[in-house]
Amino acid sequence: MEQFRYESGQLHCEGMAVDALAAEYGIPLYIYSKAALLGRFEAIRKAFAEAAPIIAFSVKSCSNIGILKVLQEAGSGFDIVSGGELARVLKAGGDPRKVVFAGVAKADDEIRDALDNDILMLNVESEAELDNIQNIAAEMGTVAPVALRLNPDVDARTPNAKTTTGKKENKFGIDLMTASRIIKNIALSPNIRLLGVDIHLGSPVNSTGPYKEALNKLADFIRDHRSPRSQLEYLDIGGGFGLLYRDETVPTFQEYAEAVLPFVKKTGCKLILEPGRSIAGNSSILVSQVRYLKDNGTKHFTIVDAGMNDLIRPAMYDSYHFIWPTKSTRTPPSHLFGAADAPEYIAREAADAAGGGGREMQPDGLIVTDVVGPICESSDVFAKGRRLPVVNRGQNLAIFSAGAYGFSMSSQYNSHPRPAEVLVDGETARIIRHRETYDCLMRGEELL
Ligand SMILES: *Cc1c(COP(=O)(O)O)cnc(C)c1O
Repeated sequence: MEQFRYESGQLHCEGMAVDALAAEYGIPLYIYSKAALLGRFEAIRKAFAEAAPIIAFSVKSCSNIGILKVLQEAGSGFDIVSGGELARVLKAGGDPRKVVFAGVAKADDEIRDALDNDILMLNVESEAELDNIQNIAAEMGTVAPVALRLNPDVDARTPNAKTTTGKKENKFGIDLMTASRIIKNIALSPNIRLLGVDIHLGSPVNSTGPYKEALNKLADFIRDHRSPRSQLEYLDIGGGFGLLYRDETVPTFQEYAEAVLPFVKKTGCKLILEPGRSIAGNSSILVSQVRYLKDNGTKHFTIVDAGMNDLIRPAMYDSYHFIWPTKSTRTPPSHLFGAADAPEYIAREAADAAGGGGREMQPDGLIVTDVVGPICESSDVFAKGRRLPVVNRGQNLAIFSAGAYGFSMSSQYNSHPRPAEVLVDGETARIIRHRETYDCLMRGEELL
């Protein structure tokens, strides 16, 4: 987060003043820091260096080709979940030999496309999918490299149940019994080359325990199922590394590595990682302007121009994003800034939520307000009962930790053109996605 900091009361991304960027590129605006992206990528590489893993950035977390190119140049591979994501990776110059393809419902065309482009492996999520890949590969006269995505039935204990993926009630992966049978029968699929096994437990997994629990099962599984027909040379542990949004205790990459590497050693496998959130999340902010303030006698509302169509995480996952004005002489009371008063601020938020605080100005000079967007949905709320400095109409707010599952989940709902995305590198800023126009909204539609 050190790439986002206040200097003389103005939020900067690296060497650029955020308000100057907002003035130049318009609002709402996604601003990414190249140094932050690369710093996080390198930190993962360093922590896992002993295993020299393929780091396959999760494209769905942040899919702009400008971002993918930055990571590709740093040596990243890519974890994709669709043919569209493969197209993005190829456009960004990504190396198909470092691409892994997950997803429970791969289409025939997507499978053909992946095989045509010679990706490293398809992470297969069901027996029916494997049969289909066998048939397609046979038709194409090729051999399909696959890993079995195992469902280890481990609770990743993610903050929101919607983002847990490795339990048996989830649609993802293959249970171990079925996987065992598949491997024993693998000779019946001559156009399949079984390269390894893969898991993805959920996101964020803010502790190392679930990885250990799953890898313990996997290490035994790999030991019991190796044969000349199934060498199981790759162990892909998926993504899910945690991120600091508020006051989470997130293991360091070092700690994740210490939990994971002994199992990798034990299996002798080559390691693949699929981090998304942990690289992109705190590498970007969403800048939004205050349109109106409203006090209805019960509550105070700060109405901003960005909405759930631009950043859906609070509406979809009840997730927390720290918000602060882009102009402020006060160090933001957040753990993101290592602020000493962050615990007190969070405790006050909890008290406000429990009904202790009102819409009035608080003794700490902050006002308790709901930060809401323009979309016609009551769930279009970025923050409820949040303490903010008093802001005026026209002032900008920064919504932090917006880089992962931010723009990539955006939509045009309510016919709002999507915002621009800008990548900052030191003292320069480059547009990596232009703001949409009304024409973009209607592209492909027909008047009958
Ligand atoms: C979403 C996803 C990831 C990335 O998860 P993060 O929490 O963003 O690191 C990795 N692998 C698979 C298969 C995924 O679906």
